[in-house]
Amino acid sequence: MRRYVLMSFAFAVLAATVSLAFAQEAPKPKPEDTEVWTPVPPIVTPGATDAAPPSDAIILFDGSNENEWVSAQDHAPAQWIVHDGILTVKKAPGVGNIETKRRFKNYQLHVEWRIPENITGTSQARGNSGVFLASTGPGDDGYELQVLDSYKNKTYVNGMAGSIYKQAIPLANPARKPGEWQTYDVAWTAPTFNDDGSVRTPAFATVFFNGILVQNHFELKGQTLFIGQPFYKKYDKAPIKLQAHGDKSEPLSFRNIWVRDLN
Ligand code: MG
Repeated sequence: MRRYVLMSFAFAVLAATVSLAFAQEAPKPKPEDTEVWTPVPPIVTPGATDAAPPSDAIILFDGSNENEWVSAQDHAPAQWIVHDGILTVKKAPGVGNIETKRRFKNYQLHVEWRIPENITGTSQARGNSGVFLASTGPGDDGYELQVLDSYKNKTYVNGMAGSIYKQAIPLANPARKPGEWQTYDVAWTAPTFNDDGSVRTPAFATVFFNGILVQNHFELKGQTLFIGQPFYKKYDKAPIKLQAHGDKSEPLSFRNIWVRDLN
């Protein structure tokens, strides 16, 4: 009997040790897990890109005010800086991302953005912003088309300008120098969902960066996450959001933002 008890005890200790070892082996997801560093997209020098809004466009920013925008956090009036016909990110406590008052499903979007000429920082902390093609609410990551200085700035290629963040490497790198205006033209097909929340059809994005095709009808895997694998979460219509990234580099600017609602 005593021998049996001793053996049981030995077994229990062994089992506990093995399960502890397994628990320690299960890795905690890290941001680096979803970074991709190669292949590096080829550099392409863009031509001129002019895009005055077409007749049926909804003007989201024409240089005069930010009336179409609210704080993404609490939907209070947007507090970025409007000056000289441009909209500049305000990096200040309590001022974060802004999003459109309007909500969209499928659309064509035009956005112009500029990295400051005196930009500092490296990799993801150099002119980081983003155009969230669908801002699915506080607590969600949403669907980000990355904005970053990608002119001679090395970073993971699925996080450079023109990437669908951590999902799709741009097909080319047509980035202009800091201080010059750049354009995004996007065709966004929103995901659709069944009543039970499962995906009926995924989201697709086609993106022209400075007139160069960088995403060709890319099928998104879900929301664009900083850490972990993408997944979908049911939503209907969503605002378009601009990111005030928390890094310490100089804030960037936007102008001439318009959308064509395709519904
Ligand atoms: Mg970003």
